[in-house]
Amino acid sequence: MTPEPTVLAWTEAELGVEGGVLEVVRAPRPVLATPGERVDPTAPDVVQLAADLVATMRVSPGCVGLAAPQVGIGAQVFCVDVSAHPKTRGHHGTFVLCNAEVLEASRNERAREGCMSVPDLTGDVKRASRVVVRGELPGSGTEVTLAAEAFEARALQHEIDHCAGLLFLDRVAGAHAVHHRKTYL
Ligand SMILES: [Zn+2]
Repeated sequence: MTPEPTVLAWTEAELGVEGGVLEVVRAPRPVLATPGERVDPTAPDVVQLAADLVATMRVSPGCVGLAAPQVGIGAQVFCVDVSAHPKTRGHHGTFVLCNAEVLEASRNERAREGCMSVPDLTGDVKRASRVVVRGELPGSGTEVTLAAEAFEARALQHEIDHCAGLLFLDRVAGAHAVHHRKTYL
């Protein structure tokens, strides 16, 4: 049985460290195609990484999520914040998850997706529009389960893929589903 979804009352202030902006690496850098290591969410370097990911996401226009491999670190850590995105319905604000996995996925839907590590292309990717995700919060290490829908569900699956060494290009149905990007948003 899937545990009851947690209400996520988390902000990056809980990390207690200042995040720095990191350089975002692009395909074909090997780290993007390598499964990330599991991490200890309470370790100081993981807490710092969590703050850095949030800081880097914040300064990147249109960025709704960023995973550790995208800043050159092969670890299962990512941040998500879809709250400002026009396609968003419900959301959980800004959060960082460590060692996250999808517990339940349903209602597949195809939609256009982009990635800071693949800046010139977008792709039509089929993903679940409802997911339940389990992960651990950086800092406390508290285990949480989140039920996410629509655009936030897509962002979560995209970031969990990054942590497994997968890009959206690995999920498209074929070359016909890849497009040149015209605008970033
Ligand atoms: Zn991405």
